Amino acid sequence: SRADVAEVVRTHLRDIPDFPTPGVVFKDFTPLIADGPAMKTLVMDIAGRYAGRVDVVVGIEARGFILGAAVAYELGLGMVPIRKAGKLPGQTLKESYSLEYGHAEIEVHTDAFEPGQRVLIIDDVLATGGTAEATAALVERAGAHVTAIEVVLELAFLGGRRRLGGRDVNAILTV
Ligand code: AMP
Repeated sequence: SRADVAEVVRTHLRDIPDFPTPGVVFKDFTPLIADGPAMKTLVMDIAGRYAGRVDVVVGIEARGFILGAAVAYELGLGMVPIRKAGKLPGQTLKESYSLEYGHAEIEVHTDAFEPGQRVLIIDDVLATGGTAEATAALVERAGAHVTAIEVVLELAFLGGRRRLGGRDVNAILTV
């Protein structure tokens, strides 16, 4: 059930205080991805909810690549990477935004999508929502449709969901 998957996530995430800067509690995803059965439970749950509803998976650098690739593989779909500025080799679209601990710029290849493709965006943590908002903007500027945004963990006290307006935002676990 959803509650069982949330419990698997809860017991496999680790809090690292004051990383990367003082005052931030970093939610470390590495114990979860290091555990095969836990990862399988998570990936199968996400894939099961989007089967037949999306055409491509978008993974956000860097932890979104790990989960996004696994979910895309399970669905038999491709994965499009959203990367920090300067990493993608081809022609790109760029968005700038602020986040919990600094500023960032992300990019997508201009030709990453077929027109109107239905996209599932995946990342590990929804914090202020800046990254997900910028990602959704890139997907739409590149001509695709954002069906849903899926995160493992939502830090609800940071209000990221409000920033994402009426979008379909799903978190496995919310704190
Ligand atoms: P935001 O744009 O504020 O929603 O931040 C989301 C992005 O930053 C995600 O890609 C997360 O991986 C990362 N992030 C932000 N805050 C945290 C946190 N407290 N623990 C782990 N990752 C975080």
